[in-house]
Amino acid sequence: MAELLEQYHAILLDLDGTIYHDEYSLPGAKELMQRLQARSKKFACLSNSTTSPLRVLQRLMRMGVEVDPSNIYTAAAAAADYVLRQFAPRPRIFNLATEGIQEMLDGLVDWVGSGGEPCHAIIVGNLTNVYVTEERLRIALQLARKGAQVVGISADRVYPSARGLEFGCGALTEMLCYAANVQGVYCGKPQRIFFENLCRRLEVEPQNCVLIGDNVEADIVGAKALGMRTILTLTGVTRRKDLRDLLPHMQPDEVIEELTDLLV
Ligand SMILES: [Mg+2]
Repeated sequence: MAELLEQYHAILLDLDGTIYHDEYSLPGAKELMQRLQARSKKFACLSNSTTSPLRVLQRLMRMGVEVDPSNIYTAAAAAADYVLRQFAPRPRIFNLATEGIQEMLDGLVDWVGSGGEPCHAIIVGNLTNVYVTEERLRIALQLARKGAQVVGISADRVYPSARGLEFGCGALTEMLCYAANVQGVYCGKPQRIFFENLCRRLEVEPQNCVLIGDNVEADIVGAKALGMRTILTLTGVTRRKDLRDLLPHMQPDEVIEELTDLLV
């Protein structure tokens, strides 16, 4: 732990499967974050959520984990950062996602309301998001066909809910892209856009970051591609036996059973 804190300028922590699972925090998570805060270390909690950091914060607070909203970075925040940069100075955006997107971009973009208006980009969430209605799907199709860029919040195929597996952001984005015959861009983990925008926010170079995550595909591969150090925790998706067949560029630098291993 001391070595990690000394060697790296920023610690990046995946949320689901690393910091928490469902509605409880995983062993060592609270203590780890307290230590990072006590030493004023730069850190960020990462999620492919389609909502804003502020809303993720509320969930963390219910678990008794206290962090500042600036310590949370979601795929939705990465999508917001992407359109603001890509279509500066005043992006024209259609929201096919969440209230979180609306809150993050209000005042910074011009919202497109109909298929006839000029539009730079469509931000796409998943099917259960409040801005995804049949009417708005039709508008999005019209806009995409006329050249608006399709910006998927994440490329996740599915996500788990209490009812079972749901269509993920990637599935809805691909549906729109297929219908409009265009290629979309994705902003969540493990995309380069996600980690680059995050480093920009934290004002750190990727090679000075260490990422801790539970999913080789979503966390480790993306972070490694940018030259970050990577630690896999076995509290989530990837199991130790999964590592055997992985190619070198997918192997984590280190494997731990759970976050408490870092606290010793
Ligand atoms: Mg995870």
